Amino acid sequence: MKDAMTSLPMKDKFMLPEGVIYLDGNSLGPLPKSVAPRVAEMVTGEWGQHLIRGWNVDDWMGQPMRVGNQVGRLIGAPEGSVVMGDTLSVKVYQALSAAVQMRPDRKVILSDSGNFPSDLYMAQGLIAQLGQGHELRIVAPEQVMDALTDEIAVAMITQVDYRTGRMHDMAAMTAKAHGAGVVMLWDLAHSAGAVPVDLQGSGCEFAVGCTYKYLNGGPGAPAFIYVRPDLVEDIMPAMSGWLGHAAPFAFETEYRPAKDIERMRVGTPPVVQMTALEEALTLWDGLDMADVRAASVALCETFIAEVEARCPDLRLASPRDAAMRGSQVSFHFEHGYAAMQALISKGVIGDFRAPDIMRFGFTPLYIDDADVRAAVGILEDVLSNRLWDRAEFKTTSRVT
Ligand SMILES: *Cc1c(COP(=O)(O)O)cnc(C)c1O
Repeated sequence: MKDAMTSLPMKDKFMLPEGVIYLDGNSLGPLPKSVAPRVAEMVTGEWGQHLIRGWNVDDWMGQPMRVGNQVGRLIGAPEGSVVMGDTLSVKVYQALSAAVQMRPDRKVILSDSGNFPSDLYMAQGLIAQLGQGHELRIVAPEQVMDALTDEIAVAMITQVDYRTGRMHDMAAMTAKAHGAGVVMLWDLAHSAGAVPVDLQGSGCEFAVGCTYKYLNGGPGAPAFIYVRPDLVEDIMPAMSGWLGHAAPFAFETEYRPAKDIERMRVGTPPVVQMTALEEALTLWDGLDMADVRAASVALCETFIAEVEARCPDLRLASPRDAAMRGSQVSFHFEHGYAAMQALISKGVIGDFRAPDIMRFGFTPLYIDDADVRAAVGILEDVLSNRLWDRAEFKTTSRVT
């Protein structure tokens, strides 16, 4: 029913400050207008009036699964296979520890140098904790396919590179991994809400991701975890918290995991934050990820062509082929940090990733062609007039 679809963009659904072109929704999505009233209602009506009864009457307890199903629909996961909670780093740890347990005879965890550091750090921490002689092997993104040998226990790969936007082929890589008996763990941090994902079709064992980027859940929004339904009952959670217990309110002294994906829950969920996310996710009702992707590719192609025509100092860091790119575009520039600060001061918000990457996220829910062209005009001004070459743009803040 194509004509029932919401058409893009839907800027009027977002609170976007006057005079800002927001190209950083890949890092923190903006505020959907309906979130503030919904959160206010939850806080004063549910928490304020219902007090502890909210766990039942407002079904706060069922929210991590309910929201998990909303996210699952956007990433091709079946009902009941995704649950929300904690942060992505914690979910990486949980998924990786479960994955490693599945291959006790293998000692290598494979990842790539395009992975986000927290994923690598969590793997290092897990390896130290296990004390079983595991190795974290980090290869270049282009080398992952060849590195999938029968020595590898788990491949822990982020589909879209946070720095360059380079995208791995999930189906092909999972098939190659499985051919070598490797357990596949995907991090969808820069995929969920950005590109169509077919988790079930890929056959991967685990997937994790965050919801404050393209899903607009707000700073600190909870993460998600997917476990392939046929495996979940065999997974012993490394973080055996009471809400992952089969009967939390039986208050037994022995841990017994819940029978399904709920075993990946840990403790009390962040209800206020999850309510913001639950409301933000309603924007996706009636949207088709294929349409979102088509619009995203068009915006990225225009941006690349315009920047290359008007800003000769910048060098493309992202793949030129749209099929190999997520929903962001990055450029190398020696003075990238200062240039980004100058650009932000003129209302075009992107971000900077060391050592020299200027990064721009394209989110077709609220960015259109006119925004892209206007942003490049301002970028051209910043570069050709060296507006970045001022002390105020060169002091590094705590968050870049
Ligand atoms: C954004 C991101 C994270 C952040 O993890 P948090 O625990 O949510 O802070 C981790 N991994 C990847 C791949 C990311 O892109």
